[in-house]
Amino acid sequence: METLYHSTRSADDGVLSKEAILAGIAPDGGLYVSDQVGTAKLDLPTVCSQNYHSTARTVLGTLLGDYTDDEIAQCVEGAYGDQWDTQAITPLTPLGSDWLLELYHGPTSAFKDVALQMLPRLMSVARSTAGRGLDIMILTATSGDTGKAALEGFADVSGTGVTVFYPDGKVSDVQRLQMVTQHGNNVAVCGIHGNFDDAQTEVKNIFADEQFASRLLKADCVLSSANSINVGRLVPQVTYYFDAYSQLAKKGAVTPGEKIDFCVPTGNFGDVLAGYYAKLLGLPVGKLIVASNANNVLTDFITTGTYDRRRPFHKTISPSMDILVSSNLERLVYYLSGNDCELIASYMSDLSEKGHYSVSPAILEKLQESFACGCADDDDTRATIRATWEDLGILIDTHTAVGKAVLDARPSEGRQRVCLSTASPYKFSADVLAALGKDVTGLDGFSCMDALEQLTGTVAPAQLSNLRTADERHVDVCDKPQMIDFVEAACKRVFA
Ligand SMILES: *Cc1c(COP(=O)(O)O)cnc(C)c1O
Repeated sequence: METLYHSTRSADDGVLSKEAILAGIAPDGGLYVSDQVGTAKLDLPTVCSQNYHSTARTVLGTLLGDYTDDEIAQCVEGAYGDQWDTQAITPLTPLGSDWLLELYHGPTSAFKDVALQMLPRLMSVARSTAGRGLDIMILTATSGDTGKAALEGFADVSGTGVTVFYPDGKVSDVQRLQMVTQHGNNVAVCGIHGNFDDAQTEVKNIFADEQFASRLLKADCVLSSANSINVGRLVPQVTYYFDAYSQLAKKGAVTPGEKIDFCVPTGNFGDVLAGYYAKLLGLPVGKLIVASNANNVLTDFITTGTYDRRRPFHKTISPSMDILVSSNLERLVYYLSGNDCELIASYMSDLSEKGHYSVSPAILEKLQESFACGCADDDDTRATIRATWEDLGILIDTHTAVGKAVLDARPSEGRQRVCLSTASPYKFSADVLAALGKDVTGLDGFSCMDALEQLTGTVAPAQLSNLRTADERHVDVCDKPQMIDFVEAACKRVFA
């Protein structure tokens, strides 16, 4: 059956999932949602007997109904192949009396790979079957992690290209090397003189430049983005909630039907929203626990029903969660409101004009029925990394530690609990090493990696340690005004 999507802010113009994935954001600035989510449930005993790949096919087939079974199967096979260091894709391991869902076994060692290995393939199929065959150039500014995951996901995917700008001198050694050593005939990477905001602002200008767009269109090319509000990034993440349950059932830790909790280190709300989708699709979920760092706007929202972005921005040791406006929350509030587009449009205009909005008591009650919350500052985070290592012999990264800290502060209510682990500790070697009590002053990224290996007897992922000898293929650095020329040249070269 076809799946229809429309904007969270207006139900007027329905589009198929392929079109929603190609467009990314709805024309009115809302996010694409489908009212069909949850009308069909997944069969739990079947899920519990399946492996990751077959569950991925079931989930994608249910939420992206206008893709054929063959198209889905082909995307799943390509996205979850031997670029992962385990066939389990997202293995579940013990974490004291709880469980750790390891989402970082993909090519860039962070959980965004689960979605960004899939999105390009979904786009490529949509492009050739629903997209007028135009070539798609993905354009991204990155402060470090997302850029690499996008490069790795789009590399050599037909009909697509990817251009990434990063602030030169303002990303870590390891992050820069991850990007500038990227292979693929359709990738372009360029440093800019300036900070992340400069890069981001200029990327937005390039997207808004209509003359540029029409020049590209004459060459059958369109610009697009790969950010986390795209349906094609959200849907693949639903799979690992079901698969975690299946792994628990196979271990005999749950009997099908029994509720479990998930604790999710949260930034833009994409990851934990996928857990809510899983619940709508029939997964027995007790609570989804939203874990935040010092940027605890979501803790306040879930506690009070008021979302207020008028607050200081904290730079923390879990940078991928340093966010004041969690974009994907708009989708959750849409569903909790009983699909009330008009109400969502008014909340979102309050948010952009006044900086805050408050949901109705009925919505707050539903929110608290499904969600719990908590936050941990950098000191809590470091203490949790150290205690988890010293007490359990398990090394976790700074983002996962926020989740674990929040989980530890709550009673278990008798349910099995799964803490989502979003990055390899070796992506954040310096902060993890410092949390273990070591002095890291003056140490570069690779020295920290070596020291962490020696101290813990664990091994850094090969794709990170191999960077020290990899060739630097992308050496361009430009000023802001030259970014647009760089994009144009990349389109010409990639789609020649
Ligand atoms: C992006 C990211 C998060 C936050 O995920 P959201 O979907 O934005 O909530 C958490 N941890 C790591 C390591 C990330 O890269």
